[in-house]
Amino acid sequence: MRYTNGFFPTLKEIPQEAEIASHQLMIRAGYIQKLSSGLYTYLPLGLRVIQKVQNIIREELGRCGAIELLMPILQPREIWERSGRYTLMGELMMKCKNREQKEFILAPTHEEIVTDIVSRRVNSYKQLPLNFYQIQTKFRDELRPRFGVVRAKEFIMKDGYSFDADQEGADKTYLDMYKAYERIFKRCGLKAVPVRADTGVMGGNESHEFMVLAASGEDGIAICKGCGYAANTELAERIPASREGGKEMPGAMSEVHTPELRSVDELAAFFKTDPHKFIKTMIYTAGGDPVAVLCRGDVDINEVKLKRALNTQDVALADPVTIERATGAPVGFAGPVGLKIRMIADLSIHGITNAVTGANKKDTHVVNVNMPRDFKAPEFADIGVVKAGDECVKCQGTLDVQRGVEVGQVFKLGTKYSITLDATYLDKNGEKKPAVMGCYGIGVSRTVAAIIEQNNDENGIVWPMAIAPYEVAVLPISMKDEALVSAAMGLYNALQKLGIEAVIDDREESAGIKFKDADLIGFPVKVILGPKSFKEGNVEIKMRKDGKSTIVPCEEAALKVRDLVNQEKLYV
Ligand SMILES: [Zn+2]
Repeated sequence: MRYTNGFFPTLKEIPQEAEIASHQLMIRAGYIQKLSSGLYTYLPLGLRVIQKVQNIIREELGRCGAIELLMPILQPREIWERSGRYTLMGELMMKCKNREQKEFILAPTHEEIVTDIVSRRVNSYKQLPLNFYQIQTKFRDELRPRFGVVRAKEFIMKDGYSFDADQEGADKTYLDMYKAYERIFKRCGLKAVPVRADTGVMGGNESHEFMVLAASGEDGIAICKGCGYAANTELAERIPASREGGKEMPGAMSEVHTPELRSVDELAAFFKTDPHKFIKTMIYTAGGDPVAVLCRGDVDINEVKLKRALNTQDVALADPVTIERATGAPVGFAGPVGLKIRMIADLSIHGITNAVTGANKKDTHVVNVNMPRDFKAPEFADIGVVKAGDECVKCQGTLDVQRGVEVGQVFKLGTKYSITLDATYLDKNGEKKPAVMGCYGIGVSRTVAAIIEQNNDENGIVWPMAIAPYEVAVLPISMKDEALVSAAMGLYNALQKLGIEAVIDDREESAGIKFKDADLIGFPVKVILGPKSFKEGNVEIKMRKDGKSTIVPCEEAALKVRDLVNQEKLYV
């Protein structure tokens, strides 16, 4: 591609609306253009990268027997009602009506559609297993789209669905897909960590997310350095180490006047004691009813875990009126002693002695609270946020908490969809059975952003060779020197013939501008034809990754570049 024939709309300034590196660089380097909130055009450079990721996905899925199809984006509302997910997905679904006022969904995912295909076309065990996938645009009505293509309303996704005759087969397919995902992300130049994850609205009984570690990530991941245990903090199990000496004698419970003191920190300073001596009591509503949620003062409540423990998605912090009605006190003075509503407690308050907690009375706390002497033992569950330093459930090592961007997720779905949508088959004995399903997603556009998050520097993007939109930039430094320009064109043509994807920067621009743009766009290899070295018959080959530079004779340059490119591709 000649630079002057292509479309490389680079920007000098960092776009103000972009908060994270990948979003800034995709805009600045001319990969995407925003249409409106959460909606982006993939400009020619962006599309090339997307296609490279797609090719890797197709190759690796093909290797494990998955087959590609393409399902409609527009789906009738009825099929979502049949599966029961019309309400469950709720506001997240983009909806529209046709001229007859019939409602359609713009697909956020395709379990319903693919299961319908199997229910109509598969009837014998001989047709199983089946593993379908597609690469397609998906829609989610995100309330707050952000970070560019990381959280957009419209995005490109690979979604796959497997159907096996039994659980054993489904487990094997799950493992095959898990391994395929590891290869896909590795080939994309990503360090992605598989972590145990919540199954959320997909349902099912086991799931892993593939997380790209990045400070800008929206997900927290608990990782054990000792045994490698890794889980989304929404799921990560805790054994809160007991901070009690265990030998403290229970004291006499008494009330203390604590005017205007509400937060644990304020109270800890007032009582001259540690936050772990406090029982925090927060009033939530679950399915409309008030619930007191207890945890130790140094622990925070994880609402995803709380929802799972209360077995409903309809959980929220109560408003001040509800709190006052439930506890008899204004916000900030709730406690378990004498409370009449349902109570659920995090494991962290187990064995706590002489605790401080709210008295359910304005401006009052109670000290020396002990369970079960002063209040009945509540329901217990692991509902606290995992923190760095917590103990690992597997090996008693120490957990670290890092941030990550989720680029893929695999689920064991079981028979949830095959039963409700009738994806059944006849086994060897003529008995009707539901197929056992799995589903597997990769956010393709988000993967591109994640690659940039992990591969950039102050000058721009540093593409891994396998993903770069073009592998090489040929940079003739003087467009006035005819011999130099003609040598550059010759080199560019030679590279094309060798199957190398090259761009020749044939603009009448200064060396500085050409270098800056090449680094911003992120070509892995620059071939520089400077007037001085060219006179000596040489060109400079410079690697974007480490700035390593080699001077080679002009006539050897094409083969040398080809070797460098192929080496890096094979490296994966
Ligand atoms: Zn461990």
